[in-house]
Amino acid sequence: MYKKLFIPGPTHVVDEILEATAMPMIGHRSTDYADLQAAVVPKLQKLLCTEQRVFLSTSSSTGMMEGALRNCVHKRVLMTDCGAFSKRWAEIAEANGKEVETIKVDMGQAITPEMVDERLAQGGFDAVCITHNETSTGVLNPLKEIAEVVKQYPSVLLVVDAVSSLAGAETRMDDWGLDVVLAGTQKCLALPPGLCVVGVSQAAMDRSAEVKNKGYYFDFWVFEKYAQKDQTPATPVVSLINALNVQMDRMLAEGLENRFARHSKMAAFVQGWAKKHFALYGDPAYLSPTVTNVHNTRGISVPDLNQELAKRGAMISNGYGALKGTCFRIAHMGDLQMKDLYWLTGQIEEILGL
Ligand SMILES: *Cc1c(COP(=O)(O)O)cnc(C)c1O
Repeated sequence: MYKKLFIPGPTHVVDEILEATAMPMIGHRSTDYADLQAAVVPKLQKLLCTEQRVFLSTSSSTGMMEGALRNCVHKRVLMTDCGAFSKRWAEIAEANGKEVETIKVDMGQAITPEMVDERLAQGGFDAVCITHNETSTGVLNPLKEIAEVVKQYPSVLLVVDAVSSLAGAETRMDDWGLDVVLAGTQKCLALPPGLCVVGVSQAAMDRSAEVKNKGYYFDFWVFEKYAQKDQTPATPVVSLINALNVQMDRMLAEGLENRFARHSKMAAFVQGWAKKHFALYGDPAYLSPTVTNVHNTRGISVPDLNQELAKRGAMISNGYGALKGTCFRIAHMGDLQMKDLYWLTGQIEEILGL
């Protein structure tokens, strides 16, 4: 049976977008494709609030996380570990032979500008990586304020995993001074998985020009060479790019401000519901607008709840990693609406007899 996804990726995809993926295939070196890429990139620039380059990477977000590190880091990188996805940054850097230093906070806590400033002051870093919205804990890091601090270190690039925030929370690449901003399509963009969009600043391009052993698939300059012709280096996931173009029109018609407000409103509702029946996990000052991590104070069985929800056509997420069982997560991102959350919480109340 079809289940509406209230999990933090992949998220619910509306019919119009599913239909847009079912296009007749076009050649990726044809003018039809070049026209498509030329149409979608400026819309993505609007979303990222940038006039700089935006590339289309046929990969998961993790692929481009690796790519960003290989383009931006000669030797040493500062990591900001506040949960499973920010921890992944460090794992990738180490697997690529980079030197890693990590600021680590307890799960549920946010990274603050002061912490970043203190470490960067030691010197010797090529870049700092931040996970804008830590999906495993439901915490939104204060990216704008962190970026202000990083700006004071001109040789340090700011590399941002915006996977579960882009299109759900404001992300102003140029105004805030972000160097790399990447996001897969299966979260707030509300498309099927398989494509990652990435904004790249001139400073990141300049760095990439100097870095050795970047590999080929994610090399920003190889992307740039093909982007000049409105193409990608290798065969891209054409059907998803077509759907992305349709989705960007829907998104810009909704209005980015309205879209972010809708996410905040859904978050406030789910947070209120969680506080009434359970408790919230994490620092209340930094709660995510796209996913709520509910502290399972009643000790309910999350798999059992999901099994009952499945019969009614919905799915939520267990806590991530160490938080499995002690928390469960309700995503409110992408194309979900208030009425979906009213319905979902009503179903949960009925199942649990709340
Ligand atoms: C989902 C997610 C990822 C991983 O994305 P993939 O597309 O599966 O590689 C990385 N970071 C964050 C914050 C996420 O939410």
